[in-house]
Amino acid sequence: MATKPDALAVDLPESLWSAAVRTLEGAHTAILVCHVAPDGDALGSMLALARVLRSRGTEVTCTWGDATWVVPPSYRWLPDIDTVVAPSQVPRSDVLVVLDTASRDRLGVLGDLADSARELVVIDHHAHNSGLSGIQLIDPAAAATAVLVEELLRRLAPSIDVETATLLYVGLVTDTGSFQHPVTTPAVHAVAGRLLADGADPSAISRQLWGTRSFGFNTVLGAALSRLRLEEQAADGRGWVWTWTTIDDLATAGLALDEIEPVIDVVRATREADVAAVFKQDGDGSFRVSTRSRGATDVGAVCAALGGGGHKLAAGFTSYDDVDTTAERLRAQLASAPAP
Ligand code: AMP
Ligand code: MN
Ligand code: MN
Repeated sequence: MATKPDALAVDLPESLWSAAVRTLEGAHTAILVCHVAPDGDALGSMLALARVLRSRGTEVTCTWGDATWVVPPSYRWLPDIDTVVAPSQVPRSDVLVVLDTASRDRLGVLGDLADSARELVVIDHHAHNSGLSGIQLIDPAAAATAVLVEELLRRLAPSIDVETATLLYVGLVTDTGSFQHPVTTPAVHAVAGRLLADGADPSAISRQLWGTRSFGFNTVLGAALSRLRLEEQAADGRGWVWTWTTIDDLATAGLALDEIEPVIDVVRATREADVAAVFKQDGDGSFRVSTRSRGATDVGAVCAALGGGGHKLAAGFTSYDDVDTTAERLRAQLASAPAP
């Protein structure tokens, strides 16, 4: 069925928006938290909300709960990124806002914050958001958390400045894969249109996100592609293509883990496979596994069965096994994976 041109980007009752607005307007201090290993949507949504709350006089702290905490190098150009603090420096506050985080374990070392918060607002678009109470601005049909934050900010502020528009656009454009994923509706383009009208520069943002790669990235991409495996019979005949990167690859290239996120975008284009996976070894030896489907496999369900989560066509999990064992476990889940 075609999407109606006037379809809403988010469809939540107005009473829920009002409750969130009241809570945020009444906050002298607020802590904003996104998921561990934050991506463009997590950071963009959090920093955009923070910026508007600060302009209204709220004292805001932005953070996330990685045990080994670093600001992801590929996002160091974002407006206001210098305002974020390590999880150890989080003060007490009136209100806690949790963004783009589907479950408590994705809060990492900050999981307990959700218990002690006096008031809690959850803003998310994952299919299975669980484990947190409070005001729930959750719409699994929303293309990005940034879409929900944009709706909220239009109710909180008379206008959105260039920096805020840039941050929201980063969330929107990263989670829709530059408007390529099936979540891209007319309403999503309408949100993008509003953000461009507010001053976001799509060309400059795309250049930062995708048009700029270090020499080191290309060498790690080469290493990953040199190990590429195609299993055409896997995933019940739909095909699976996969590879991995090691701590040594990253050390040699002088890269942080978040900087090799785009490797999956190259691997996933493989015609012969519906499912793609990249196992990325972290500093502690574990592997962060990124999975993608070209449309025939619910990788969100597959990754949930392996202790992770995500969306139907883009999901992940962490593996504490070696490469072969990780592949074996994923292969076994893929054999009986549901369709999206
Ligand atoms: P990534 O491959 O890291 O870009 O992640 C794709 C999607 O899966 C994102 O929506 C993530 O939030 C989600 N995801 C990745 N890793 C995990 C995990 N360990 N647990 C739950 N969700 C995850
Ligand atoms: Mn995210
Ligand atoms: Mn998101």
